[in-house]
Amino acid sequence: MSILTSAQHYFDRAAEVMGLDERIRAVLVNPEREVKVNLTIQRDSGQLATFTGYRVQHNSARGPMKGGLRYHPSVDMEDAAGLASLMTWKTAVVDLPYGGAKGGICCDPTTLSPGELERLTRKFVQKIHDVIGPQLDIPAPDVNTNAEVMAWIMSEYSRIHGFSPAVVTGKPLELHGSPGREEATGLGAVYIIEDALQDAGRSIQDSSFAIQGFGNVGSHLARCLHDRGGRVVAVSGSRGGRADPAGLDVPPLVEYARRGGRVADFPGGRPVSNQELLAIQCDVLVPAALEDVFDAASARTVEASMIVEAANGPTTPEADEAFVARGVTVIPDILANAGGVTVSYLEWVQNLQHVTWTLEQVHAHLRQTMKAAYRAVADLAQERGLDLRTAAYIIAIGRVGRAAVLQGV
Ligand code: NAD
Repeated sequence: MSILTSAQHYFDRAAEVMGLDERIRAVLVNPEREVKVNLTIQRDSGQLATFTGYRVQHNSARGPMKGGLRYHPSVDMEDAAGLASLMTWKTAVVDLPYGGAKGGICCDPTTLSPGELERLTRKFVQKIHDVIGPQLDIPAPDVNTNAEVMAWIMSEYSRIHGFSPAVVTGKPLELHGSPGREEATGLGAVYIIEDALQDAGRSIQDSSFAIQGFGNVGSHLARCLHDRGGRVVAVSGSRGGRADPAGLDVPPLVEYARRGGRVADFPGGRPVSNQELLAIQCDVLVPAALEDVFDAASARTVEASMIVEAANGPTTPEADEAFVARGVTVIPDILANAGGVTVSYLEWVQNLQHVTWTLEQVHAHLRQTMKAAYRAVADLAQERGLDLRTAAYIIAIGRVGRAAVLQGV
């Protein structure tokens, strides 16, 4: 199932509970703008190659649109549209003055040299520079894009429009990035896990965790949980993983993966496949890779009592129903992984004001934002007898809907 279909399903479910007017639904569902561009670059071999780039701007009722850029063979307009709508709800759940967007380039970055990736990124900016901007649409890193790619975006956009660090977030620290941005998504999820476990009468110290995906989000999340005394019993990358019921030694594993080592080859524990990881014995299971990880069948094999959606769209509606029926707590993506966009917002604020915050300031703001958002969602869920996803969507749709209506749509 596409992420657009599942995001639409979750929107409809919440809109039903809210009794949302049909006309407002139509305004909130459809993207404001969809851009598709062809990008031709010269390969290192001298040959020409053409790729397709996408940017979907879903909703700007609450402010400039915000969302990552993904470089992956699965990127297309539908994928970008689904992810863009999640960004609208996500920025609203954590109450940032932003709307939602998403995009990327359909490519396999592992087959491109650094020079080819840079030329492709700069070409993308040349094609979309008039629809992005610090007060319009601000890209950020996502799957297979990083601070270096963001630096190329800032450089190319500034070449056309003049010095504009606030056009993109997730930049390197030396180039107007913010302290704390790199670990923000993983750390933000950990702040929520702390409170969700506390609500369940538990703590990070007495819980075990399995994490699918060991890139930016998964590796920082594992390290933050380990630092707080959590037992990380399994992690995996795209080519398999490692498991140890006694707890993996996370810091050397992070270092090993950062140096390009395969998680599956890490010495310690036993090898584990991605499928096995999802069904492993643990308290908290964290998908931190790609979408559509849980379908009706895999949802039935999950042993964990809590799922934290650090990735976007890992749970299909059938799996979501199965989790609700089995009493598995699901912390939805639009809440669980909002730490990244929260610190992106802080980076943007610093860029606009030409100031630099300390790491302590950033972490304090992130902590306060994530915990306040979780509390509001958990309290609404409790009050109305809802699952956390429906409660999060209700809060988000209410905020975006009111902003749209107040502007006189
Ligand atoms: P990344 O490219 O840094 O890492 C992705 C990881 O997933 C890699 O370790 C890769 O090996 C692994 N992976 C891919 N396919 C897999 C599979 N089938 N099984 C197991 N592992 C697999 O990407 P990221 O930035 O860490 O993003 C991961 C997820 O988090 C995405 O859904 C993204 O949209 C979401 N997200 C990221 C951010 C951010 O700040 N980077 C913010 C919010 C949400």
